[in-house]
Amino acid sequence: IPDRDRTTADAGVALDDITVDFGGVTALEDVSLSVDEGEFFTLVGPSGCGKTTTLRAIAGFEEPAAGEVHIDGRRVTDLAPERRDVGVVFQHYALFPHMTVRENVAYGLRFRDPPGNVTDDERVDELLSLVDMAGMGEREPEQLSGGQQQRIALARALAPGPDVLLLDEPLSALDARLRERLRVTIREIQQELGITTIYVTHDQSEALAISDRVAVVSGGRIEQVAPPETVYREPRSRFVAEFVGENNLLDGEVTESAPPRTTVDGTPITLPESATVDTGDPVALCVRPEVLSLGESEMVSNATTLTATVEHREFLGDAYRVHCSWNDRSLLVKTDSREPPEGTVTLTVAASDIHLLSDSGR
Ligand code: ATP
Repeated sequence: IPDRDRTTADAGVALDDITVDFGGVTALEDVSLSVDEGEFFTLVGPSGCGKTTTLRAIAGFEEPAAGEVHIDGRRVTDLAPERRDVGVVFQHYALFPHMTVRENVAYGLRFRDPPGNVTDDERVDELLSLVDMAGMGEREPEQLSGGQQQRIALARALAPGPDVLLLDEPLSALDARLRERLRVTIREIQQELGITTIYVTHDQSEALAISDRVAVVSGGRIEQVAPPETVYREPRSRFVAEFVGENNLLDGEVTESAPPRTTVDGTPITLPESATVDTGDPVALCVRPEVLSLGESEMVSNATTLTATVEHREFLGDAYRVHCSWNDRSLLVKTDSREPPEGTVTLTVAASDIHLLSDSGR
């Protein structure tokens, strides 16, 4: 579904043509997004592309020069941050150092909806168990690890029962192993609460791992919005193909339209049957390193074989990452072969594993 066709009224969060300027610098240009209720939605892109600005515009910390922000069908464009019912967690935990863990979480309750029959103390206990920190209430933030501090920051953001959770690089100050553990925790909590969540990261593998849908951002614009599998397998632009995962991008020219074929540097390559191309069209082929398999395979129909030379290889534990040269180009290959590839190798790629970029122009 094109994002614009989703309706603002049903969305957990909707941005309509948001533009944000900083003294002549356009940080966001006509950004439109629609995040479903209960969805885990991630903004991913390189440094400076506008991810944080997008999040801040949703939270109300940034006033857009144009456009509208909706949360749960309410127009909130002119509302102050504390009236938007959003919980925010930033990269740096920003817990109050002079308050205990319990006091930090309780601070989040000051904007709480009418309490019902749960006391503040009970609510704090509930939140501490939710983030797996029960019994740690009397500690000071400095007695906590980075990961524990982020759990408390999450509990504090969730305390008032917000409609939307906004997370800005919450894991980037942590080491790799802890990042992987905590992202699972965040996802589990998000699913348990069913809360609409927008997550910002520059780490594409984190984005793919955690999200229902991903928006790839570049230069203040949205390049593609899709589920992780689609962003990975069917990148819409050269930027997405190169930013998300690794890719061999080959430019060629169509030599035959049915069955579709191209040549790249004079070598014929069979294209997916579904490709609608005309003879003479320029095409840009995305070939992921893992779809180039070592050796010739009788099993693969519509395959192309290439002869390449191994330049060097890296052992990754579960695979080899192999840098090959082919027709004066580099080709990256990922193989789970147990034998270290070396010398001259035959590479096979199935036509159906080749993705054609829709923007074939450079
Ligand atoms: P990072 O991953 O490095 O945090 P980002 O994708 O979150 O990057 P933003 O922080 O949203 O990017 O910044 C987008 C653009 O707006 C950048 O060019 C940045 O320099 C600019 N920018 C952001 N905040 C301000 C500000 N307060 N004043 C001026 N320019 C700003």
